[in-house]
Amino acid sequence: MKNNVELIGHYGSDEIIALSAWTSTSRELSPDKLERVSKLLVHLWSQGHETPFEKASVHFLVNCDIASHIHLLKHRMSSLNAESARYKELKEDKFYLPNDWWDHKVTPDVKDDLYYPQEEYMDWFLALEEYTKLGNKLYHKSLEQLTPVLGRKRAKESARFFKTYNSQIQADVTFNLRSFANFLRLRNSEHAQLEIREIAQQMQDLVEAIDDKPFKTAMWVITRANELWIKHQEEISKQLIEEFKNGTN
Ligand SMILES: Cc1cc2nc3c(=O)[nH]c(=O)nc-3n(C[C@H](O)[C@H](O)[C@H](O)COP(=O)(O)OP(=O)(O)OC[C@H]3O[C@@H](n4cnc5c(N)ncnc54)[C@H](O)[C@@H]3O)c2cc1C
Repeated sequence: MKNNVELIGHYGSDEIIALSAWTSTSRELSPDKLERVSKLLVHLWSQGHETPFEKASVHFLVNCDIASHIHLLKHRMSSLNAESARYKELKEDKFYLPNDWWDHKVTPDVKDDLYYPQEEYMDWFLALEEYTKLGNKLYHKSLEQLTPVLGRKRAKESARFFKTYNSQIQADVTFNLRSFANFLRLRNSEHAQLEIREIAQQMQDLVEAIDDKPFKTAMWVITRANELWIKHQEEISKQLIEEFKNGTN
């Protein structure tokens, strides 16, 4: 099963962000000010006045592998709740398989060590699938057989050690638009792992496709600023290293 993202809610708009900034003078909206909303947003972001963007938020439901889940958790400026294998048995054996593993054949020496029924032809994709299924089988069996010994609570929380890293869980995550920009900059980037990059891209596409485009300018300026940051970041990094090496610090 592929990782997937659903946009389950959003709050705010370009106008709400602008109004937040205009609170410092007057929140009254004249037709002239309404016309200046987009220009103000670009000005704010480009000058580093990012707090008004915290007034808007986006809310997602994500089904993803454990590695991506950890990547999501790293973003402290977000709010995340997730499905818990401590509190319930994960009855549905959802798991993720990387498409780029297709057709990369397992060599005979590795095949000999494999624990499960040997296929005539086995690629790494299939090997991972079989290994995951074995983990899930042992998860359910150990839970069943350890419950009378350890009690349901301890059996549940420890049986999950059989779950593999590609097991999928559901997470409910909210970002404000400022932290969402930071998330996109770091995770929708070539440096990020493929899976979290795909999740970040899905999130961005969903927000940009909201009816009536409430975040039209905000998303434009965030995305463009991120592109420019990525482009110039390497240059800045090189320059800093060079200056340090030359003792100009
Ligand atoms: C390519 C890549 C590789 C990575 N590799 C690793 C790794 O090997 N190991 C690992 O542990 N993590 C790794 N990370 C995670 C990374 O270290 C960050 O934890 C993660 O990206 C969250 O970034 P953040 O702190 O900017 O986001 P958030 O936690 O959402 O914070 C948003 C912003 O708020 C501010 N902020 C938040 N908390 C504080 C604070 N305590 N003090 C001051 N300012 C704060 C900062 O400006 C920060 O950028 C990696 C991330 C990427 C993108």
